Amino acid sequence: MPPRSSQAFWQQRIQRAAQLSSEYEFAREILEFYGHVASFQQTLQANIAASAAEEPLNGTAAGVRDALDLGVLLPHFRGFLSLIERKAPSALSDAARQMATLPADSWIANLEDYWRQGGIDEPPAGTFAQFFSRAFLQPYAEFRGQRAVRVPLQMTVNVCPLCEARPLLGVLRPEGDGGKRFLMCSFCTQEWEFRRIYCAYCGESREESLPVFVAEKFPQIRVEACDTCHRCIRSVDLTKDGHAVPLVDDLAAIPLALWAEEYGYRRIHDNLLGT
Ligand SMILES: [Zn+2]
Ligand SMILES: [Zn+2]
Repeated sequence: MPPRSSQAFWQQRIQRAAQLSSEYEFAREILEFYGHVASFQQTLQANIAASAAEEPLNGTAAGVRDALDLGVLLPHFRGFLSLIERKAPSALSDAARQMATLPADSWIANLEDYWRQGGIDEPPAGTFAQFFSRAFLQPYAEFRGQRAVRVPLQMTVNVCPLCEARPLLGVLRPEGDGGKRFLMCSFCTQEWEFRRIYCAYCGESREESLPVFVAEKFPQIRVEACDTCHRCIRSVDLTKDGHAVPLVDDLAAIPLALWAEEYGYRRIHDNLLGT
């Protein structure tokens, strides 16, 4: 489980991005950009925490995705767009500049839309429409997910028990002689326990239909595919590298997307940068 202090958690992501950007030349631009985004998210989450009420939330989609309180968030949105415009790769930077010219009503509509459906609906392919809402609201969704009261799961579920979004990643955490498998939510970033040999999309459980691929460059990441639904999920294996930070290691693993594409497997849910 993540460290208890959220600020330490962000620090860990930012440091991991810096470390991996010196190891993986091909991912440097993306990881440096992510470092700027994560610093912004860290500050935003501290603001959210400072203004939040103390009571724990009801651990259901109604609790986590309860009415989006834009009072704390919206004053930061213009600053966020300006950061993206300055630091992002050019296509995304252009999109930020364009979005900054739109009226606040249109920002609100986008944010509310993502807040209701993010991670549940298939994200629109090939656009940045979702990037802005997703990156901006992630600290808020995470904060609410962390405070949600969890009910023990009676069965294996393939969507987040707190907010009903699809999983972004698998995470293998050391336990006993092996690893215990969790899924990490694409919306609120919380984890839930999941069966080891089981497709996280369609529930296929025959081992011969669930090929696993590991690239030499990323021994800590497994691509777990399914020949029944042709979906795949990346699992970050903390038994192989205890310093890995799943959200960040996944962003670095750009070549794995090419592999999955070549073999016709589509991610269950893409990451923040759409890879
Ligand atoms: Zn969730
Ligand atoms: Zn499947």
